Amino acid sequence: MKALTWQGIEDVQVREVADPVIQEPTDAIVRVTSTAICGSDLHLYKVLAPYLTPGDVLGHEFMGIVEEVGSGVQNLAVGDRVVVPFTISCGHCWMCRRGLFAQCETTQNVDQGMGASLFGYTSLYGRVPGGQAEMVRVPHADFGPVKVPHDGHPDERYLYLSDILPTAWQGVVYADVPEGGTLAVVGLGPVGQLAVRSALHRGVKQVIGIDLVPERLARAEQAGAVVINSAQTKDVVAAVKDLTDGRGADSVLDAVGMEAHGNPVSEKIVTATSHLPGPAARLAFEKVGIDRLAALHLSLELARRGGTVSISGVYGGAADPMPLLQMFDKGLTLRMGQCHVQRWTDELFEIANQTEDVLGLESLATHHLPLDQAAEAYKTFQTKSDGCLKVVLKP
Ligand code: NAD
Ligand code: ZN
Ligand code: ZN
Repeated sequence: MKALTWQGIEDVQVREVADPVIQEPTDAIVRVTSTAICGSDLHLYKVLAPYLTPGDVLGHEFMGIVEEVGSGVQNLAVGDRVVVPFTISCGHCWMCRRGLFAQCETTQNVDQGMGASLFGYTSLYGRVPGGQAEMVRVPHADFGPVKVPHDGHPDERYLYLSDILPTAWQGVVYADVPEGGTLAVVGLGPVGQLAVRSALHRGVKQVIGIDLVPERLARAEQAGAVVINSAQTKDVVAAVKDLTDGRGADSVLDAVGMEAHGNPVSEKIVTATSHLPGPAARLAFEKVGIDRLAALHLSLELARRGGTVSISGVYGGAADPMPLLQMFDKGLTLRMGQCHVQRWTDELFEIANQTEDVLGLESLATHHLPLDQAAEAYKTFQTKSDGCLKVVLKP
C-alpha cells in the first residue's frame, strides 16, 4: 500500500510499504478514506526528528472503513464506518476506568517514561504506524474506534473527532472559564479555531483570539472572537487587559506549543539539536530545555490573578525556564496534557452529527489533496502559505 513516510528532517515521502496485518485478536484493519495533517505532525517534521526512524509512517487523524477485525473484536464489523482516536487505549485499565485514556496503563510506554501509545508518533509513543496511509492497523479496536453512520454527513464532520475537536474541547473545559468570564486563546491554528468555536458554543461570554497570521485571525473573528494580531500589537498583555476591566483573562488556552514564533535564540538551539546524531540529540532533548516558550510565557502573563492556564499545545523540553515567581504570586492554576479523546467522544459526536454543522467542521479544511501530494502539503501547512489552515488527504 501507499503511505506517507518520514525520511529525515523536513523530508516526508509517499512510498510503497507493506500492507498492515492483524497481529493481536483485538486489532482491526481500517481502509482510510480521509486523513488530516496536524500541528503535532509539524513537530515530527523537524524538532522531534531524533525520535523518528526513516520509513516511519506518520498520521494520527484518520477515519475509514473497517476492512478486517481480529477474533477479539465484537463491537465492530467489516464495512463499518469509523473514526479512530489518536490515543491508543485499552478502555479497561485503572487509568481508562478514570477517563484518563491518554495515560492508559496497558499501552503506556514505560521504557520511555511516557504515556499511552499514539498513532504515528515517534519512539516515545510506541512507534505505531500511523494513518496517513491507504490502510492502518488499529490496536485495541475493541475499544477505540467510534462508529459513525454510513448515511450521515461527509467525512469531515467526523474526522476531527480523532484529535483536534476533543483536544480543543478538553482545552476549553480545563480552562475552567467562570460564568460571564473571558477566555483568551493563544494560537489560532486548527486547534485554536475549534477552541474558539467550542468555547462560544459552551456559552463563554467573551473569547479573545491571538495569532500573527491574518487569515487565521479573520477566521476566528468570523466565528465570534475578538482578535489581536500579536505581530502588529505593541503590548498584547495591555490589549487583553483593556478588554477585561484591567485584570487580564480569567482563563487562557495555549494552542501553540513548542514551536512558537518569537524565540530566535531557542529556535537556533532547537534546530541545532535536531541535527545532532540520534543518541546525542535525544540526550540533549532530555537534559536541556528545548521548547520555544514565547506563547506559554505570554499565556501566563495574559491570565489574571487567580486565573487558569490550560495548555493544549505540545511541549517536550526537560529543563524549560518558567517564571515561577509570577506564576506563584498570581496564584495560577495550570492544566495540560495529551487529550483523553474518548472521554469527550459521546458529547462531541452528538454535536458533530446534528443536521446543522454548528462548529463549521465541514469548512475548516482549506486544502483537500490526494495522499500522493502529502509531501507538498506538509510544506504548505508548515509555512502557512496559500492560506493553509488544515489539510485533508484522500488516500
Ligand atoms: P498550528 O501549528 O497550525 O497552530 C499554531 C498556531 O500558533 C499558528 O497559527 C501560529 O501562527 C500560532 N503562533 C505561533 N507562535 C505564536 C505566538 N508566539 N503567539 C501567538 N500565536 C502563535 O497547529 P495546531 O494543529 O492548531 O496545533 C496547535 C498545538 O496543539 C500544537 O502544539 C499541537 O502539537 C498541539 N496539539 C495537542 C494535542 C493534545 O492532545 N494536547 C492534540 C493536537 C494538537
Ligand atoms: Zn493531531
Ligand atoms: Zn487502558
